Amino acid sequence: MIVTRFAPSPTGRLHLGHAFSAMRAHDFARDRGGRFLLRIEDIDPGRTREAFVDGIGEDLRWLGLSWDGPVLRQSARLGLYADALAGLKARGLVYPCFCTRRDIAASTSAPHGPEGAIYPGTCRALAPDIAATRIAAGEPHAWRLDMAAAAALAGTLRWEDHGCAITAAPERFGDVVLARKDAPASYHLAVVIDDAAQGVTDIVRGADLFDATHVHRLLQALLGLPTPRYHHHPLLTGPDGRRLAKRDGAPPLADLRAAGADPAEILGNLRARGFPEGLTHPT
Ligand code: GLU
Repeated sequence: MIVTRFAPSPTGRLHLGHAFSAMRAHDFARDRGGRFLLRIEDIDPGRTREAFVDGIGEDLRWLGLSWDGPVLRQSARLGLYADALAGLKARGLVYPCFCTRRDIAASTSAPHGPEGAIYPGTCRALAPDIAATRIAAGEPHAWRLDMAAAAALAGTLRWEDHGCAITAAPERFGDVVLARKDAPASYHLAVVIDDAAQGVTDIVRGADLFDATHVHRLLQALLGLPTPRYHHHPLLTGPDGRRLAKRDGAPPLADLRAAGADPAEILGNLRARGFPEGLTHPT
């Protein structure tokens, strides 16, 4: 049975770009007699708003995209992410990082990766007893994956995108954060645990997350989780060819609704813009 999901972060109202992605994941499952799930990625306490969580359900219902089963909320699953992190700690694959944003920005030699400046690895060199003392003293810290050690342990990994085999190259990200100072799990850690827990077989999401899949594939290998098939779709663009996302002025669905727009027509337009599966590839 095919299982897909839509996994928005409730940091604002859904806009047309979200609707496009939700529709792609929804239709992928429905066209194949599968299940379409909804997950709320609300692990970032600073940016999540309860009103936006309610808004996601309202907007999807208005569009006519129905999901199966209960909505999974990541904020209710923090203990599971902590357990996974503890396992990686016990295997020596993560280390505490006390660096501030400013410390990292100050290391001007840091090369850039898909998520910005690559962490120069300052805290990787800290002696374990010194790190333990700083933790015991209550110093705020994140947990970073020792990428070189993890990648060496995992060996060559592949995943499938639109049926094409992709070789994972997570090293380009450097030592990614798996738990933050202010949030007990990062997106990368939570997403692989939840996709596995929800039995997601096919991940249909925007091409902006294609690069992150290199890290997800590695985490799946480290945590012994299955690897779903991926189908990163091209991002919705406006008439000028520019990406339609919130920061580029994509209209929130709530505004379209208030203006009397017909949701069936919106979905029809989004579907008409769809690219045939497998024809385009985001890389
Ligand atoms: N929560 C992520 C976002 O809103 C999407 C996660 C995913 O589809 O993997 O960008």
